[in-house]
Amino acid sequence: MELYNSLIQDTKTLLEKGAPKVWDYAERDCWNDIGSSELVLQKDAAYELGAAGKGSANYVLFSSSAELVNRDQVLLYGADLKDIKGDCDFARIVLLRVGVLDDDDDQVYRILKDIEFAKYHVYPEGYMVRMSPESYREQVRVSKKAIKKGISFKSIGASYIKAYKKDPNVLNATVIFVTASSFDFAAMKDYAKKANDITGTLAHILEGLPTDCSVCSLKGICDEVEGMKELHFGVGDKGTDKGHKH
Ligand code: SF4
Repeated sequence: MELYNSLIQDTKTLLEKGAPKVWDYAERDCWNDIGSSELVLQKDAAYELGAAGKGSANYVLFSSSAELVNRDQVLLYGADLKDIKGDCDFARIVLLRVGVLDDDDDQVYRILKDIEFAKYHVYPEGYMVRMSPESYREQVRVSKKAIKKGISFKSIGASYIKAYKKDPNVLNATVIFVTASSFDFAAMKDYAKKANDITGTLAHILEGLPTDCSVCSLKGICDEVEGMKELHFGVGDKGTDKGHKH
């Protein structure tokens, strides 16, 4: 699974200028999970991460490369939850090392979607997440009570890692939080869109789109993303023998 590798590199380059706080994953660090979504009312909220008008981005990138993703870790660029005083910019980026999925192309899309879905099964107490997949944003209302109880990105990150690692295809999970406004949130949102385009293209390819790049509406993405065409032609070869026009 190399399709997202250049986005992982781009993300690392974007974050290079910062020095993150880093925590190795330990299951005991997970924040209390209440098992279903909780309504944190505005009057009970300390602030909102990625609030309207602030920078916000959320995306997941997959790779089979142990060079790119090799730790279960939480990284934080910027202030931690207890130190944030008001609404602020926010990004949550997840890098996942997955087992080599390329042997079984038909399964790839479903497996990636299943893994991505893990984020919908994390319900930290006092941490109300609102996702907006169409705009690649994630907005989080954090309750004053949770701050008093000591909620931190280390604990929230651990909760996400635990959820991702429930899937046996996930070998390593790195969860990155960004709250420092000095980072380029517009670029992160752009990467989120690209990641989504890659996954979407994968879905189309696996649905059996004809392998004729000259008339294909997805050509822009496939020209840019290394490995996409190879994947399509590999899948095409398994089915009808239409020949490949580049
Ligand atoms: S490889 Fe070619 S035919 Fe297949 S989705 Fe990409 S552009 Fe379209």
